[in-house]
Amino acid sequence: MFIFKRSEDLSVFIKEQRNNNLSIGFVPTMGALHKGHCSLIELALQSNDIVVCSIFVNPAQFDNEQDLDNYPRTIDYDIEVLASCNCQVLFLPSVDEIYPHGINKTNDYKLGNLDKVLEGLYRPGHFQGVAMVIERLLNIINPKELFLGQKDYQQCFVIKKIIEQSYPDVSVEIAPTLREEDGLAFSSRNARLTDPQRAVASLIYQCLISVQAQKDTKDFSIVRNECMDIMLKKGLKPEYIELADADTFTLMDKYSNENRQIVLIACWIGNVRLIDNLVL
Ligand code: AMP
Repeated sequence: MFIFKRSEDLSVFIKEQRNNNLSIGFVPTMGALHKGHCSLIELALQSNDIVVCSIFVNPAQFDNEQDLDNYPRTIDYDIEVLASCNCQVLFLPSVDEIYPHGINKTNDYKLGNLDKVLEGLYRPGHFQGVAMVIERLLNIINPKELFLGQKDYQQCFVIKKIIEQSYPDVSVEIAPTLREEDGLAFSSRNARLTDPQRAVASLIYQCLISVQAQKDTKDFSIVRNECMDIMLKKGLKPEYIELADADTFTLMDKYSNENRQIVLIACWIGNVRLIDNLVL
């Protein structure tokens, strides 16, 4: 596996590959890799000659200094994981490499409602930071296809919007969420859960399933309250449980058979914040 730390070197390498008619698939990550990340690499390898994975803990997208400091960093392990899933290229830049002129958050990206609801609301500035880094990474890597996980559903909409506006030649593939046996979505932040916290974390998935299962029998507001109560009783602190149109990301307060809907949950377990979702 090639490891590039400098964007210029990577850009030269990519140009050579493209000149040889090789297609580039790109999987951006923040490291602390798990099976979910591997599934994206495997998917990318199915339709591309070369897969580039980036590992960059992007300070611009953290609204909380402590979360940034505590974000797990396991680079030696990550390199082993990437090699074992046949990823050919790792981009491992420093903060200065990505933001040579410093992190100047201008909040210039026009993200419409995405910046104002759910993750946009609870993590102010988060998606502006995501937009900044994805733009920078796409300029360096210039892939044919970009691979994202459904777990970060709202982020997929944000990135698709940036791509539509500025990178029409890049296609986006959204991969399904990979889960532990008890349903908890793989997440780098799971590593920060204590054993007792880990034991109750699957309640997030159980609530998603419960919202899905009761679609035809109850009001969504009742199901939401039941889920909130169960979570609180087990020591989880739900931030939101919301329904949205899965195709437009418009929030909805009722079940509907006319739209493809998605239920999205964010919740705190101790000082770890987890998100997950399920298309109904
Ligand atoms: P992260 O390193 O958390 O920024 O995630 C990098 C990419 O992996 C994003 O596109 C995520 O949506 C995706 N991802 C994270 N968790 C999972 C999972 N459990 N299953 C599939 N993809 C995931």
